[in-house]
This record gives sequence, structure tokens and C-alpha cells, in this order.
Amino acid sequence: MHIHLTAEDRQQIEAELRARRDVLEGQRSRHLDGVSRAEHARELLLQDGDDAPQRDVDRAVDFARTDRDAVALAEIDMALERLAAGQYGLCTDCGSAIAPARLKLAPQVLRCVACASLLERGRPKPATL
Ligand SMILES: [Zn+2]
Repeated sequence: MHIHLTAEDRQQIEAELRARRDVLEGQRSRHLDGVSRAEHARELLLQDGDDAPQRDVDRAVDFARTDRDAVALAEIDMALERLAAGQYGLCTDCGSAIAPARLKLAPQVLRCVACASLLERGRPKPATL
């Protein structure tokens, strides 16, 4: 199965994906302030103060946020690859066409609604840090 996209469609989708990617990249580098994740963690750990419990929470939230950004970036990259390979718009799990309305809302999605909700339900609770 494959989805027919005109050159114009492809260009538009690619532009949309790249725009989203830029936003995410910007957020991520601003958030980490240019330092690597490990350095960032070290800085947080070395911070003085008697608010240790709060700091732990902050740290967990911090990691969760950068993880989510990293996943979102990887998703967009994959969507771009699939676009180049002519597989854009097909579910990576079952191979059926993803609803156009869903792609319009979130051009980076890789799975159809059915597979996405299956994954969502089967996913283990994120481990608390
Ligand atoms: Zn599917």
C-alpha cells in the first residue's frame, strides 16, 4: 500500500515537519542552556541549598521534559525519512494508511489511531527517577 502525494504535498509536509523540528530544537537548547545532559545533571546535583527534596522533583521533571523532547525530535526525523522513502503516511506497525485528518493535526505521527492507542495502553508506567 502507498499513499499518493504530489510534489507539492510533499514539500508542504516537509516544511511543516522542519518547522516543528526547529521549534523543538530551539526549546531544547534553550532548556539545557547549551550544556550536555550529563553536565546539566551535575550542575543540578551540585547546587547548594536546603531544598533537597524539591530539587529531586525538579530534576525528575527536568529529565522527563528533555526525554519527551528527544522522543518528539526522533519522531519528526523518522517522519522526514519516511517522507523521503515514499512511506510517509503509512503506519509503521500495521502498514495501513494513517487518516489524513490525523496527519494534518500532527504530521509527525508514525502510527494509525488503532496502533497508537494499543501502544499507549501497553506501555509500562514511566519509571520514577
Ligand atoms: Zn497501524
